[in-house]
Amino acid sequence: MERTRAAETPHKVGKRVKVAGWVHARRDHGKLIFIDLRDASGKVQVVFGDSFKEHENAEALRAEWVVEIEGEISARPEKMVNPDTPTGTLEVKAESMKILARAEPPPIPLGADGYDLDEELRMKFRYLDLRRDRLQKNLSLRHRLNLFLRSYLSKKGFREIETPYISKSTPEGARDYVVPSRLHQGLFYALPQSPQQYKQLLMVAGVENYFQIVRCFRDEDTRKDRQMEFTQLDVEMSFVEREDVLSLVETLLVGLATEFGYELEEQPFPRISYADALARFGDDKFDIRKEKDFRKLGFAWVIDQPLFEWKERENRWDAMHHPFTRPNPEDEHLLGKGEYGKVRSWQYDLVCNGYEVGGGSIRITDPALQSKIFEIMGHTSEEVEEKFGHLLTAFTYGVPPHGGIALGLDRLYSILSDEPSIREVIAFPKTGDGRDLMMGAPSRLMKEQLSELGIEIKRKM
Ligand code: ASP
Repeated sequence: MERTRAAETPHKVGKRVKVAGWVHARRDHGKLIFIDLRDASGKVQVVFGDSFKEHENAEALRAEWVVEIEGEISARPEKMVNPDTPTGTLEVKAESMKILARAEPPPIPLGADGYDLDEELRMKFRYLDLRRDRLQKNLSLRHRLNLFLRSYLSKKGFREIETPYISKSTPEGARDYVVPSRLHQGLFYALPQSPQQYKQLLMVAGVENYFQIVRCFRDEDTRKDRQMEFTQLDVEMSFVEREDVLSLVETLLVGLATEFGYELEEQPFPRISYADALARFGDDKFDIRKEKDFRKLGFAWVIDQPLFEWKERENRWDAMHHPFTRPNPEDEHLLGKGEYGKVRSWQYDLVCNGYEVGGGSIRITDPALQSKIFEIMGHTSEEVEEKFGHLLTAFTYGVPPHGGIALGLDRLYSILSDEPSIREVIAFPKTGDGRDLMMGAPSRLMKEQLSELGIEIKRKM
């Protein structure tokens, strides 16, 4: 017999079915034993009564055992109806049962929302933690949102193109995660901080409209709600100006809000200059909502950021966004005068409910201007050649004007799921200090692995 999922049972009242899943809860009333059977689609009540001959097997059942049950779906007696659950009007009258797996009592309770539990324990037993309703819902929402983004952009003529994860350092202002090369000992790859250079090179390659739901890797100082790897919706477009990118993202998000039942605080999204944001909110991440009510999204654009910021500790100018961001043409003459701090850029950031959820820019396509920006940031021409030569060369072969943006999906999805932390919307997050408590990472390598890589550990840990 084909398996029936819990969520399908309301359509099969009166039929004999086979259901399978985990024992979510068990209530022993002596002659009658009830269980809530849970599968990925939901829960359904199973009753072991007269039609079930092996009563002792039902008595033995414990939470989280995995079982397969055959029986008839029947309407519940009126006073037993539970209007709060989709399967609350029915139950499966068990006739036979197979125990597929027994289970130790779970080390963390799985019934409630889990917010109060020790987070390290939740992470160590993440495969159990994920069984809870709230996290299953978050996984489903994330899946549906990803699907929405993919189909929306595909319909608009965008192609999703995968770019390498094992690559070369791409500057986004963070430290790189490096990967030692075995075949080229002493040389290293870097995990991309974002596909920035690849997507720009795709524009040179004539792709025109690119997107990717992609992982980015940044070795930043630990912060509670930051992950070493995070997911972006990465977008790049050719023959566009700032307005085109803003309008694409805005219509995408309005479409998403409509499809998923969120209200927008303001539309069109207000545009606030960086200077005004600092003056009005004291921060470039701000919340425009009048009331912080559930399912309300307060999106706003921040524009006109300075191109450079002064890095006191390093005693040099650095790109506020990244070095590929185009200066506002009205301010370009200031570069020649050395008034770097006054140059506005063609960067744009998106905030939502007080968080930065996206950022991008129109790019530099003039190799001479790009070299000048690197020079202002303090790179020698040798460094520029070694780190960015490929991009500058590519730009000599016919580069279309282009720009793009990346939306931080973990943050956006945590807002949409009304979750306080991005860890609640990531299946296997790491702790704030970058440990995977379930897998036990990071971990030592074996001597043979190190020697194959030509690596010696100087300091014994
Ligand atoms: N690469 C940028 C980032 O990750 C986004 C962009 O400029 O498109 O923030």
